[in-house]
Amino acid sequence: MIDQRASDIGDPVERLRYLRKAMDVPRPVARERAPRRHGRIPARVLLALVPIGVIALTPRPTGTAETLVRERGLTIPRADGAQAAAWGSVPRIWMVENSETTEIYSNGLRIDRTFLVNNRPRAAFPVFPLTGGSTPVTMRSTPAGIVYHTSESLLAPFDEQDNRRLRQLGRNLLDVVREERAYHYVIDRFGRVFAVVADTDAADHAGHSVWADADGIYVNLNDSFLAVSFEGQTGAPDAITPAQIASAKVLTQMLRSRYSIPADNCVTHAQVSVNPLNMRIGAHTDWGGSFPFAQVGLPDNYSMPLASIYAFGFEFDNAFIERTNGWKGLYAAAEQVDRRAAYEHVPAARYRAMLQHRYKEIAAEIKEQKETEGDNP
Ligand SMILES: [Zn+2]
Repeated sequence: MIDQRASDIGDPVERLRYLRKAMDVPRPVARERAPRRHGRIPARVLLALVPIGVIALTPRPTGTAETLVRERGLTIPRADGAQAAAWGSVPRIWMVENSETTEIYSNGLRIDRTFLVNNRPRAAFPVFPLTGGSTPVTMRSTPAGIVYHTSESLLAPFDEQDNRRLRQLGRNLLDVVREERAYHYVIDRFGRVFAVVADTDAADHAGHSVWADADGIYVNLNDSFLAVSFEGQTGAPDAITPAQIASAKVLTQMLRSRYSIPADNCVTHAQVSVNPLNMRIGAHTDWGGSFPFAQVGLPDNYSMPLASIYAFGFEFDNAFIERTNGWKGLYAAAEQVDRRAAYEHVPAARYRAMLQHRYKEIAAEIKEQKETEGDNP
């Protein structure tokens, strides 16, 4: 009901204000974990984390049943059993045939390998706790998710008369992507799927970025998430062709099957991108709106609360709301921060500053580790 009323409010700022008021429930975030005990943390880090540690250790209050239901609806939009299970699994997809140039899969996916190159091998990447310190919960080395991009390259009208130009532009794009090791997969406007950077390697696609699932938070997703790019432009969602969407669906199925990727970890660049300089989200805005989640066989992940906001205190401005037409996940995440701050009796700005401080600690540790490894971050 709240959603419905909110969608009737045209002005995005008013809408946010309404949602904030309507969902004013003083209870901490639902996806919380106890901080882990750990042996090896420098004293300066421990000191810096004291205020956050105190917050993370505060016991949860007990809410009324109604509060709990509302809370769950807000933080985990698809928590109702049957639907979550339906999105949660994909049928097993297997490789039917492969050659130097082509891979064919049991769901009809066909991958062109002629542009395939290596980059640096995928590094083991840390997964950080949703709350608490900056010590990883675990290290992983298989892809945890998929980030969808648009190529932002030149587009010709999708018309038979422009066939030559369409082919040439697609080819130019593949040359650039290969040169820059920018994405694992490119889907051209005819729906052809090209493997560019090998799955075993990292692609340089996500820069400063954040996403989270029940296991924890992923920071800077080049190693942890695969990149699938549509030949297309952010401002021209209509230029995405039905063939591209059909291919994205079978490619997503195959990758989810191969790496056991949860549906909630298949998200767009705009959803994960952050700018540490101004502590705002959306440094990149490709697929900032109108990603065809349903047609690609995924739940509406725009409704997922953004970990960059609720776990790391990143902010967004009205321009971003306008540009994205206000995803539910933005409001849900901002709301979590406000409620958590209210529950802790800390002004929201101060609570956000604590979260931001934690992000900076983690980002600094990652940078340090990359430099130790001699990697180019
Ligand atoms: Zn992108």
